[in-house]
Amino acid sequence: MSRNARPDRGTLLAQAGHFVDAETRALVPPIHSATTFARDDSYALGDYVYARNGVPGYAQLEGLIAELEGAADAQVFASGLAAATAVFERLQAGDGVVAPSVMYHGLQVWLKRLASQRGIKLTLFDATDPGALEAAVAPGETRIVWIEPLLNPTWDVIDIAAAARIAHAAGAVLAVDATVTPPVTTRPLELGADLVFHSATKYLNGHSDVLGGVLATKATDAPWEDIRTVRTLVGGTLGPFEAWLLLRGMRTLSIRWERASANALAIATAVRDHPAAVQVLYPGLGSHPGHDIVARQMTGGFGGMLSIRVAGGFDAARRVACATKIFHPATSLGGVESLIEHRIAVEPPDSLVPPDLLRISVGIEAEADLIGDLLQALDAA
Ligand code: PLP
Repeated sequence: MSRNARPDRGTLLAQAGHFVDAETRALVPPIHSATTFARDDSYALGDYVYARNGVPGYAQLEGLIAELEGAADAQVFASGLAAATAVFERLQAGDGVVAPSVMYHGLQVWLKRLASQRGIKLTLFDATDPGALEAAVAPGETRIVWIEPLLNPTWDVIDIAAAARIAHAAGAVLAVDATVTPPVTTRPLELGADLVFHSATKYLNGHSDVLGGVLATKATDAPWEDIRTVRTLVGGTLGPFEAWLLLRGMRTLSIRWERASANALAIATAVRDHPAAVQVLYPGLGSHPGHDIVARQMTGGFGGMLSIRVAGGFDAARRVACATKIFHPATSLGGVESLIEHRIAVEPPDSLVPPDLLRISVGIEAEADLIGDLLQALDAA
């Protein structure tokens, strides 16, 4: 670091924001498990009241996330979906939401339910069609454009800056699900987004032992304050122990990300010539159709997520998923351990995800072990 320069995000993460406990000088914060906090002698409230409104562990965590994202503020939630759904709570009947046709299925299922129950107009667009987002937004009606810069689980790419221009021209806000593009590689707010969301269950925590969600905002405006109110009113609050674990997990994000990115690129390169791999979907490969965009908007590695389409369809893909000895056949992503998932098994019936697709979350194990395991499993196809 040059004199007076801002520390690198990896430095901020490793030191959890250069934390020293004010009372004890401890470098690790305490866990306050209390659910209630006393008023003072004049019956005035202090900073904390009741745990559903937030607990002492949030300040450091939310401050660090806001700094990493270049945000005005951040909030943590009990799960990714508790955070994501809070964004849509303000919508009224007739308001429009635009989202990709292939995206994290859990949120899409919830959006369809919201649309049918509350009269919200949900428009899904094909992100592989360059003009589709512009055609999907309706000026004056679309309130929220929700995107994933890398679409889960096909890893097609959306240009965040272009999406922000389109959303803003229609009078909508752009919210970015950056779960698989954490702030060590992409800062959506700097690219024009208004809100950034993470399932903190994934890369931010990175150890498959915390369920959590995060929102970060460009502006502390009325909708943002409303999101905070929703968190308290519906009880979407992260527990104190989970907040502590998340902060601890985040300390190693930078190095986990580097290792997972290097492993994933090596795996994608090694398996693409295997006869059972019809297609390897990894944006870090120069041959990927979205590579030029990700090379601009991911400046710290392409991450650990890739998918393989297997020759022989559903049955062959299932055989491969059952044949790995190091990759665990499990859902989720972004942990230190590598996972493989026959994705169609968890997608809803109307999913556009191909039945031959295996989603792979690459961890931080030794590259040669991962490549060897996947190649022997592909032989089973
Ligand atoms: N967004 C993405 C891209 C995800 O992968 C997930 C979970 O798999 C979510 C959102 C939902 O987060 P959570 O499971 O923490 O509620």
